[in-house]
Amino acid sequence: MKRAYNFNAGPSALPLPVLERAQAELLNFQNTGMSVMELSHRSKEYDAVHNSAKERLKRLMNIPDTHDVLFLQGGASLQFSMVPMNLLGKDHVANYVLTGSWSEKALKEAKKVGKTHIAASSKEANYTYIPHPEDIQLSENAAYLHITSNNTIFGTQWHEFPDLPVDLIADMSSDILSREINVGQFALIYAGAQKNLGPSGVTVVIIRNDLLERIPDNLPTMLDYRTYSSSNSLYNTPPTFAIYMLSLVLEWVEEEGGVKAIEARNKEKAAVVYEAIDASNGFYAPHAEKDSRSLMNVTFRLPNEELTKKFLAEAKEKGFVGLAGHRSVGGCRASIYNAVPLEACEALAEFMNDFYRKFN
Ligand code: PMP
Repeated sequence: MKRAYNFNAGPSALPLPVLERAQAELLNFQNTGMSVMELSHRSKEYDAVHNSAKERLKRLMNIPDTHDVLFLQGGASLQFSMVPMNLLGKDHVANYVLTGSWSEKALKEAKKVGKTHIAASSKEANYTYIPHPEDIQLSENAAYLHITSNNTIFGTQWHEFPDLPVDLIADMSSDILSREINVGQFALIYAGAQKNLGPSGVTVVIIRNDLLERIPDNLPTMLDYRTYSSSNSLYNTPPTFAIYMLSLVLEWVEEEGGVKAIEARNKEKAAVVYEAIDASNGFYAPHAEKDSRSLMNVTFRLPNEELTKKFLAEAKEKGFVGLAGHRSVGGCRASIYNAVPLEACEALAEFMNDFYRKFN
């Protein structure tokens, strides 16, 4: 069996050992005579899976006791609404840094809830860079500052987080667990699982406990973070299979040497692909400015539409999947999340070099 070189932006590549383990355990999970999908979410077997996912994430990300880990559904997109509904309040202002389509969407939902302010933006430059932390201008009465740590569509990433006297909230959907971060610096982190954490279906929220005290009492139960924190995310049926897969992915990250080792490998992988771009004399034009480049999503254009089509068609023939840019921006994008092996990046770089030599 030949596995594809999978550069999908999400859902995306999962580690092969994780898939093999899930396959081996599919019909009879730990001698229960059933799949993990068929277990009651109140069973002791499921409980162990649930708590192992939570504990492993705490360990891997060094999450301090001041913060809790919640498992929700609704994707990162529901967090665009839940964050302001829970944390904005009537008298305060939600501050957003605009670095791409996902931050715009987050802002759009906050506007429906209360007052907002754009604290910095690179929209005027078509989101080719991340604003410098020094250029962030907070409003008065800021409830929080929201950033998108990695911009999946434009291929930019924060390499230094703002350190301002305000609660920092980050959408880390496309770079959670890809590098070491100081969780204590954030009031809240959220991420859909389907890039670095597992399959789609579960959303991870890491929340500083004192934020729970400012949640208004009139929220629908399922949109209130307290529902999840007071029930260990078991108020209703959680996405049990997705959380099981998450626990396996986290175990894999531990076996690979933890986030530090994953980060080193991610840097090596990204360097291989950016090197192919930089060696092409502008044939592959990168979207992101150099100091804002993402280690997760490498975005670039070819000289024209015809060559782009040809590039994508030849890539497909050679077994490279998912290299077309997001439908809103076109061009090309290679998503090289944690589970994409170095070998796939090397094969892509080689293909890019060959294609460049043929067509430049
Ligand atoms: N934020 C970012 C940075 C994303 O990349 C995505 C999905 N690609 C989303 C939010 C939306 O996530 P979901 O589909 O889980 O709602």
